Amino acid sequence: MVCPWAERHEKDERTVIAEEAVSRVLAGTDIVQLIGRYLPLKPAGRYFKALCPFHNEKTPSFTVNPERQIFHCFGCGEGGDAIGFLMKQEHVSFPEAIRSLADRAGISLPARSRTHAGSGTGQNEHARHGLLEIHRVATEFFRQQLQHQTVGATARAYLRSRGIPDTVVEQFGLGYATASWDGLLRHLLRRGFSKQQVEEAGLALPRKDGSGAYDRFRNRLMIPICDSAGQVIAFGGRVMDDSAPKYLNSPETAIYKKGAHLFGLHLAASAIRDRGSAVVVEGYFDLIALHASGVQHTVAVLGTALTAQQITLLHRHTTRAFLVFDPDPAGIAAARRCVESLLNSGLDWRVILLPDGEDPDRFLRERGPSAFAEALAHSKDLMEFLLDRKVSGFDLTSPEGQAEAVNAVLPLLGAVGNEVTRQRYADKLARRVSLSNDAIVRELNRQVRGRKRDTIPLTLQPRGLPSIEWKLIHLALHHPGAADRVRKSVRAEELEDRSLRRIFQYAVVGPETGRGATPLAAIEPEAQRILTQLLATDLAEYDEEETIERALSDCLARLTARRERKKGEELRRQMEAAERAGDHAMVAHLQAEFLALNRNRPPLASTQYHGTMK
Ligand SMILES: [Zn+2]
Repeated sequence: MVCPWAERHEKDERTVIAEEAVSRVLAGTDIVQLIGRYLPLKPAGRYFKALCPFHNEKTPSFTVNPERQIFHCFGCGEGGDAIGFLMKQEHVSFPEAIRSLADRAGISLPARSRTHAGSGTGQNEHARHGLLEIHRVATEFFRQQLQHQTVGATARAYLRSRGIPDTVVEQFGLGYATASWDGLLRHLLRRGFSKQQVEEAGLALPRKDGSGAYDRFRNRLMIPICDSAGQVIAFGGRVMDDSAPKYLNSPETAIYKKGAHLFGLHLAASAIRDRGSAVVVEGYFDLIALHASGVQHTVAVLGTALTAQQITLLHRHTTRAFLVFDPDPAGIAAARRCVESLLNSGLDWRVILLPDGEDPDRFLRERGPSAFAEALAHSKDLMEFLLDRKVSGFDLTSPEGQAEAVNAVLPLLGAVGNEVTRQRYADKLARRVSLSNDAIVRELNRQVRGRKRDTIPLTLQPRGLPSIEWKLIHLALHHPGAADRVRKSVRAEELEDRSLRRIFQYAVVGPETGRGATPLAAIEPEAQRILTQLLATDLAEYDEEETIERALSDCLARLTARRERKKGEELRRQMEAAERAGDHAMVAHLQAEFLALNRNRPPLASTQYHGTMK
């Protein structure tokens, strides 16, 4: 049989090379552990469950199956193996995902698969890989400068003065960029990178007179910014004196987008899951200080108000977050700017206010970790906090003041999408301004109705599939005995659904012919989704041998009937053509064949068949 994806493999050299190592990489990877690094997985029978990272949901329909080493979401239909998960989660290509998994599993890949070049996406992929590599080398360079006995002495003294222990310096990969104009640039050129690459990575700037380039970061403490997999994608540089700007960040590049990452998430993820909450701070040193004091479930937003993307990232790990704000007006304003997305994110937000305008870094140094734990314990609900702030400026003893206060707060309440929550806050407001709850709710409902509300897109439903084909493959996948019979009685070509035909060849015929070696992530995304759905869907009457047998016979009979119906239609067409041509002998022959076909048709048994998820 011709392998339908052989052509694809031959054309795609990267896949072929990877394929040799892929089985080793997959064998060295546990999908539960991998996904567990990104999502809080909860055991549910033979599966693990979580809120789906690929669509918005309130009850978990994302499942991970350790036996099959696959994931599948019954809400949006996404599914695949460990490679597929990483590709979707980190937005990386197939070979990149394999490299990343290989690195995690400590498996070395053949050199060729690391240095492929190609056209189109291959080139992008190549450029991305180059950017990551340049950041890796630069991180190491900055790190060595910091550790250098003389060169790094001032920077090390500075870190000590801020109370950052060596272990934390190491953990965050902190480094030092010297005052030299081209120390890093020359190092990177020596390591084989081009000037253009260094500029594209945002690490060097072209000289105005066009005579070369110079380092962007000079005489700064260097803080690597990582993606959630821990790969360095940008840098923050801090001065160690009073010069400006205090912080300098990498510009946006092909691998770094402002507001798309949370600083420290790769180090905080497991602590966030363990603690069931995250602490969100504003700056690098606040974060580093908290980690150094053992508050490891902390991430930082780095200069922007929390973006929707960052909130989504956070939501993958937890449902509760503490915002640590400077109580200065700027900090409060930052909170207000993103308040609407915060209130509707499905996370439980709490606010921590540190006294006397202190930032977390200084607060910890002066008062210690226990004082911070105290502050955490006294956190306030975000909405209550905002209500208090808004209302506090009005004279609540006069009716005018009360009305003004309510008017100032209503838009905030109107931004709350959930009606029950909105009602709860309205109650709080009513108590706070000593007005009747009814009046406030009436006004609030009027405003909410009048507002053009965002509609949430409906969850994508998997498209309708020919049920006999789906069931046959389902039975074959879950029952070795059934698989044999299905293989003997069904030909791939007769399956009408293209994806199911592919799945049939891949997963039913495949294991017999040794084709199962192809990783799931290498087949079409649509086929991946349907196959994982098939694998993740248990048979309700799985234990009953007899029921399976009956369901199988029923499906096979239906398939035979379909086959014969099609044959009949074909015969009818031929008869019509023979009649038009006046070929009476042919008409008689075809008629006989047609009658024989109908005579042999067996009656259809009817079976109850339910696929359910356990
Ligand atoms: Zn989903």
